[in-house]
Amino acid sequence: MSNKDEILKIQGYDEFKCTAEKCRFTCCAGWDIGIDDDTYERWNCEKGNKEYILKNIESRKCGKKQAYFVNKETNEACPFLDNMGLCQIIKNHGEEDLALTCRSFPRIENTVGGKKELSLSCSCPEVVEIISNIQGKLTMNSDSSVENNIDLLEYEIRSGLENITKEEDLALDKKLIVSYQMLMELLKYKSFGRGALINTIERYKDRAKVEEVIADCDELEEDIDGAIEEINYLFIDIIENYKEVEGLKEILSDISDFAEEAELEELAENWNQFKSDFKNFDELLERCVVSKILSNCISSDLNEMIIAFELIVLEYLLVRYAMFIKFSMSENKDLNLQDVKDYIVAFSRIIGNNTEAVVEFIKDGFGDTILEIGYLCFITLF
Ligand code: SF4
Repeated sequence: MSNKDEILKIQGYDEFKCTAEKCRFTCCAGWDIGIDDDTYERWNCEKGNKEYILKNIESRKCGKKQAYFVNKETNEACPFLDNMGLCQIIKNHGEEDLALTCRSFPRIENTVGGKKELSLSCSCPEVVEIISNIQGKLTMNSDSSVENNIDLLEYEIRSGLENITKEEDLALDKKLIVSYQMLMELLKYKSFGRGALINTIERYKDRAKVEEVIADCDELEEDIDGAIEEINYLFIDIIENYKEVEGLKEILSDISDFAEEAELEELAENWNQFKSDFKNFDELLERCVVSKILSNCISSDLNEMIIAFELIVLEYLLVRYAMFIKFSMSENKDLNLQDVKDYIVAFSRIIGNNTEAVVEFIKDGFGDTILEIGYLCFITLF
């Protein structure tokens, strides 16, 4: 069997089934919906009965290319939804007339070393439900028994990230920092060539190396008040444009209002209890992180790879902080699994599906698209 014929699927891939109008989070809100050229041409050829569709499509310059998008603000709902939340394109012309983005969501397809990899996006609540029901570690499985023969550096880096994230008996926040530290070392040794980079990845396969990085992190002075102030600022700024989005406002508006009014020093007193209780969700969050690493962290450009991973860390931090706010708001100081699942969906949409805008936000705020490891430790390990 050649690489070309081999298909790898993320665990649970075949279980996915869209719940359509029963879904609390329609997939048509909270991000830019791109229209592929073939679909645009098809609609354009049938102008007669597709005029209403074309009127809602805008063309934008993306680099040297002209690209088409549904004409709406990122945070607005899709104009093709009727007042029952049903898609008029499907109603009038059938599912086969949808643009590729709408037809395939939440399925993701990548080609890695000639092999097709199929995974799922955590921006869909049904996907998070499937991941939450998986026991143990999340894997990408092949239908063939042929041994892996991919010799790409990006594949090795992704495997390195996956291995660290799946380490046993370590807190997820620490594993994320160790992974980021490995990426920073790769960046440092980039000019030394492939051999040096493979050596670095190999060193991080050793548990002793992972523990050495964690020991270094443990020596950093914690600043709970300062970290909460910083995360609170990021949280309010990032969700500002999404708290009115249909499907997101129900779960974001209460925590957003609370975060804006909160006395942060008082809030910080809850942190240690919260952090200890929140560990119960580490396994679910780890599986979601692994799923995102497998679908997003694969690029021959190391900087792109680092940015993709940085966004995964940011998503994790925002889910954790949203749960911290929820915890601080609740009288009984309890944490609810459904809330965690909802925030995973929400922040996958806000961060993962609006990559360009978030990267721009990071660049404006920090002067670079790649965050410094010291800053990431400050807002993660406290
Ligand atoms: S978010 Fe998922 S379950 Fe909901 S409508 Fe979209 S694909 Fe279906």
